[in-house]
Amino acid sequence: HVERAESIQEIRLQLPILQKEQEIMEAVHNNTVVVLKGDTGSGKTTQLPQFLFEAGYGDKDGLTPGMIGITQPRRVAAVSMAKRVAQELGNHGDKVAHQIRFDTTVSSKTAIKFMTDGVLLRELSQDLLLKKYSAIIIDEAHERSVNTDLLIGILSKIVPARMKKSEQNPDPKPLKLIIMSATLNIKDFLHEKLFSTFMRPALVEAEGRQHRVTTHFALRSRPDYLEETVEKVKRAHKKLPRGGILVFLTGQNEIKYVLSRLRKDLVRPTAKLEEAAPRMHISAVDTPLELEDLDIGDIHTTSQEDLDLADEIDIVTDEEELDKEFEVSDDDDEEGMVDVPALRQDKIALKRDPYDTVHLLPLYSQLPTKDQLRIFEPPPERSRLIVLSTNVAETSLTIPNIRYVIDCGRSKERKFNSETNTQSFEVDYISKASAQQRAGRAGRTAPGHCWRLYSSAIYEQYFPEHTEPEILRTPAENVVLSVKGFRFPKPVTDFPFPTAPTRTTLANAERLLKHLGAIAGPNGALTDLGKKMTLYPVNPRLSKIIIHAIEKAPKALNQIILLASALSVDDIFVNQTQISPEVDDDGHDDEQDKLKQRYGRAHALFSRQDKASDALKLLTAAQLYLKDSEKDHFCQQFFLRSKAMQEISQLYSQLCSMIRSTHPHLSHVLGTAQLTETTKPDVVKSINTSAASGYIDQIAIRYDLHPEQSIVASSPRRAIDVPYFPLIPINQRTGNSEKRPAFIHPSSVLAKLSTKVLPQYIVYRHLQERTNSQVLTSSDTEIVKTRMLPLCTVD
Ligand code: ADP
Ligand code: MG
Repeated sequence: HVERAESIQEIRLQLPILQKEQEIMEAVHNNTVVVLKGDTGSGKTTQLPQFLFEAGYGDKDGLTPGMIGITQPRRVAAVSMAKRVAQELGNHGDKVAHQIRFDTTVSSKTAIKFMTDGVLLRELSQDLLLKKYSAIIIDEAHERSVNTDLLIGILSKIVPARMKKSEQNPDPKPLKLIIMSATLNIKDFLHEKLFSTFMRPALVEAEGRQHRVTTHFALRSRPDYLEETVEKVKRAHKKLPRGGILVFLTGQNEIKYVLSRLRKDLVRPTAKLEEAAPRMHISAVDTPLELEDLDIGDIHTTSQEDLDLADEIDIVTDEEELDKEFEVSDDDDEEGMVDVPALRQDKIALKRDPYDTVHLLPLYSQLPTKDQLRIFEPPPERSRLIVLSTNVAETSLTIPNIRYVIDCGRSKERKFNSETNTQSFEVDYISKASAQQRAGRAGRTAPGHCWRLYSSAIYEQYFPEHTEPEILRTPAENVVLSVKGFRFPKPVTDFPFPTAPTRTTLANAERLLKHLGAIAGPNGALTDLGKKMTLYPVNPRLSKIIIHAIEKAPKALNQIILLASALSVDDIFVNQTQISPEVDDDGHDDEQDKLKQRYGRAHALFSRQDKASDALKLLTAAQLYLKDSEKDHFCQQFFLRSKAMQEISQLYSQLCSMIRSTHPHLSHVLGTAQLTETTKPDVVKSINTSAASGYIDQIAIRYDLHPEQSIVASSPRRAIDVPYFPLIPINQRTGNSEKRPAFIHPSSVLAKLSTKVLPQYIVYRHLQERTNSQVLTSSDTEIVKTRMLPLCTVD
């Protein structure tokens, strides 16, 4: 009873998935869990929901009345796919809706609901059995995002629970689960802990209908891949026949940079300028990065193995002779071109130099959704579409008429340092699987080409086979908080993770959450505080500080938010050793001396508000930075790391706007304009107290006050030699819990104090164990002094 437009039907019939409709639907009928593997573009996302719909799922009067829910890791995919499926469903188009954070089209009519995985996770905390749904499709499972992994884990328990319930009651009906993946790297979803033998997922594979993509490796990789990208795109546009170009970069800053360069050089002055890069939404999860210089040597060799690597993709080692670089035979263009009337026009127009100008579009997840959707609109007459994208376009989106891909081979990845418990976003090589996916984007509608800006030797040597699941690169506290949000009745270590973090990692995270008061009771249930903590895009320590400030110190809230933002980055100060390398014995270097003095003055300026609090020093630096109009100059002048400062500034404004919307009555105290130059003593105190609330498990007591006072031969003369004992003993890597002292780090403001005025208690950010490898060989106890990085003091 679905009536589709003829043009839609014609395109649908070309999709490999359509040939498999019967097999897929039989698998769905006969199994509770189905895993569907199909190459990108085979039709999974657009067709599966329609198959289910036509089989009666989502029909309020039918046997399976609940909605069909489809999750996407990205907002733009949720919105654009909902639109596309609505179009395809013709007379039933109004039954398709999307829901992303802050935006939904869901109504009582909705039968097919596209949403981000985050939305479904939040719904789980309201209704653990997902009674609104008759089927859930987890899409892009191969991306292994934390949310997808958590969803698959919890759904593996919900599905049998729904089955059991339906044996006794008419409602709700059993829930069907379909996991879709573009790659076959899915064994993690199939193990026993997730799906017991009676629910063993059925596996259905659909082939892709991929045109030939010729991949060209660069002869050598260049560290400055942005310049390389700009040049490559310019040459490609000049030389290549008709077809859109998709360029993969790592983040919005890179995209904006390349965009502005290309706009300057490629857009004819007469042509109307594309509107300036759209206003961006600032998010902590997409903090801009400056390029780190990548240490890549020139490697010229390409072995036969390199060439054999890719299966479906032809590899040509590009000699990089510029005139041959983009030699694309006309046969390529004809061969295998799909004969779809909609495309026939293209085929006719397929001749060289068909363009007057370019249509440049950015695509990254922080771009407002409506701007992201512009990639689906046809470009203006006689302009070549060039999309500059992050890996948003790697699998979930199919951009019409892309024939050429230029791949920088890198992406911005979440990294997690379990030692300092800090996370960062770093540019690194993608996996081989990702590189194949990116290349494949060129072969959707006709044979295509992919130019890789790296050599095959680099690819072989540095690209891992697959990307490590994100859950292993995320602070475990956040993962544990989510699992607790499900009211999972057993210890977190029993949660059916597709790929589980280690037991120790989970146990440590659980202990920290207990200390912070996010979970409580014998089963470690989520407390009200814990629920609030999940709202903020920062780690639980920092959420705790913010919530503490909202509740206990609203007058200091603005500054505390800024402090929390500053604590989210590793370190903002340029190390003194980096500015003043050792001066030669013989020479007294005036320049160096001046620099040192300036360094000293800068740090004195930052510590003027509170001589005993590194938190205040950090805050003062951030505050002065935000107030200064010449930010780069300020960083240089005061020895601050400019990238870190930018991240702080972005996170600060994001947190402010979040808190403005959740706590409107506090709006008037928030924002840069409200930051004051000097802080009153009582506010200073509140700031220190709030800061301490997030590090309650990291307090150390001065040695002479320690109940089991250990013998210290002579009273230390320097502050950095005074022993402090963490109240919760340091858990040494050796496993013994003997009480070890920690010492103030020389970079701390406390290091400058006289030993007489050192505080009784120090709250520290983290410990640093610098082991001296030479000493270590003689005995394992000789770990050189443990240093602590103090934050503030408490009474
Ligand atoms: P998969 O999920 O397997 O990667 P999709 O279902 O997303 O595949 O896409 C199947 C095909 O549908 C694409 O190759 C493309 O031709 C078409 N398509 C998808 N989305 C759109 C859209 N927004 N506009 C036009 N065509 C689209
Ligand atoms: Mg898809």
